[in-house]
Amino acid sequence: MTPENAQRIDSRDKPFPWRCPECGKREVRPATVHHSSQIRHDGRLYSVEVPQLRVPQCEACGEMVFDNDADTQIYDALRKQLSLLPAGQIRQNREQLALSQRELAEHLGVAVETISRWENGVLIQSRAMDRYLRVYFGVPAARAALVEHAAAPSFGTHVEE
Ligand SMILES: [Zn+2]
Repeated sequence: MTPENAQRIDSRDKPFPWRCPECGKREVRPATVHHSSQIRHDGRLYSVEVPQLRVPQCEACGEMVFDNDADTQIYDALRKQLSLLPAGQIRQNREQLALSQRELAEHLGVAVETISRWENGVLIQSRAMDRYLRVYFGVPAARAALVEHAAAPSFGTHVEE
């Protein structure tokens, strides 16, 4: 889902200015730009516009350096475009039910890492998963059936992937 050919670095807690991966100058600082990209998601290609993307950019050559925060903004825009549950909404719905990420993962039958990545905004749920999440959170009877299914002995023991 990451824009192709984009320069990437792991930016966490690294003070500005950064060294530019393109021109080598230490001129990369936070910027706000109009950004459009093509993102492949769930088997289709989408054009995603973010009018005010906050992204580190090289003041010498203009190269944008995408970090997790920039990715999250782009993915949130795509989620909105596709009417998918926002990352924060998934977390909020789970917390309202007082469930851990692991419990929700077990009820849904997905990996706990998947829940974590959805909630952190670095992975977008498929359209099918989005509907499944809406049913789980919005229909108590469906949720109760899934909880019961997850607790059944034949599903209680499994080999971790
Ligand atoms: Zn540069």
